[in-house]
Amino acid sequence: MKLTQKDKNPFVYSDSNKRFHTYDYYIKHKFGKKCAKIPLDCGFTCPNIDGTAGYGGCIYCSDRGSGDFAAESSLSVKEQIDKTRTVMEHKWKNCGLIPYFQAHTNTYAPLDVLKEKYEEALSYPDVAGLNIATRADALPDDVCEYLGEIAERTVLTVELGLQTVHDGTAKLINRCHTTEDFLKGYQKLRKASGKINICVHIINGLPYETYDMMIETAEFVARLEPEFVKIHSLHVLKGTPLEKMYIDGKFNILSLEEYVDITACQIERLPPETVVARVTGDGDKNALIAPTWSLKKTCVINEIDKELYKRDTYQGKLFCR
Ligand code: SF4
Repeated sequence: MKLTQKDKNPFVYSDSNKRFHTYDYYIKHKFGKKCAKIPLDCGFTCPNIDGTAGYGGCIYCSDRGSGDFAAESSLSVKEQIDKTRTVMEHKWKNCGLIPYFQAHTNTYAPLDVLKEKYEEALSYPDVAGLNIATRADALPDDVCEYLGEIAERTVLTVELGLQTVHDGTAKLINRCHTTEDFLKGYQKLRKASGKINICVHIINGLPYETYDMMIETAEFVARLEPEFVKIHSLHVLKGTPLEKMYIDGKFNILSLEEYVDITACQIERLPPETVVARVTGDGDKNALIAPTWSLKKTCVINEIDKELYKRDTYQGKLFCR
């Protein structure tokens, strides 16, 4: 009998042909059923937009602060969940829900405001967990303490945007906090509670970054051993400062082949236990200028699967503790 790619897969955290620890695998084994993330926009801002750390935001960020798929911020948390749930109802029968505070910096408000929003989400029926996207420089003590409290009640994941370990690039993209600041925030969360899952976001293809620099970012993240990593391809969106740089020919966009090569090399270096919740970006199709190959998300994921198989490698093969 001919062996399939699944039969030949040496990666332990997989029950398919996937050679990395996918989000689907995690959800299935953690919750025993499908769970859907529901993007939310609570009208927050960011320290690098409002002048606290800088102005203008990250140079690639959309108007909606990376919350392009959320319902309108004028709606309450409950109304946003209701609305998204109604649209997707045919897919979500008996599904667990994971409200995802996604747009802008979702710990960047007074504690009582955050409490009201998070508790409204937690009180919604069928909620299986909570995801909160933020920045490592926006984690004051009282918020960390409260996050630790939430982690006692539900499966809490706090998502931190690192994007790159290189401070020169961080400056160029107007991240407005250093990698040392990131580390401080990361460790603060860890200290607040061992039950808080941490997800680190990185971006491949940032202007002037070389292959080695992107690998260094992945190695830095690997050493932290976070519960989740999201790997994104850089998206050039209409109306952003990055669009102007791109039109002026200031940097090159990665080809699909380059992106697949780099991402496969990063996956090899990540701990096998870390869930790779994304291996490509998911931006607003109508605003995307480049790279157009990223519109075919399934194709990008398939190419990464093929590359890992072709190299006979898998997540963690090059990870050393
Ligand atoms: S911190 Fe996030 S939401 Fe804020 S400007 Fe940067 S990418 Fe956009």
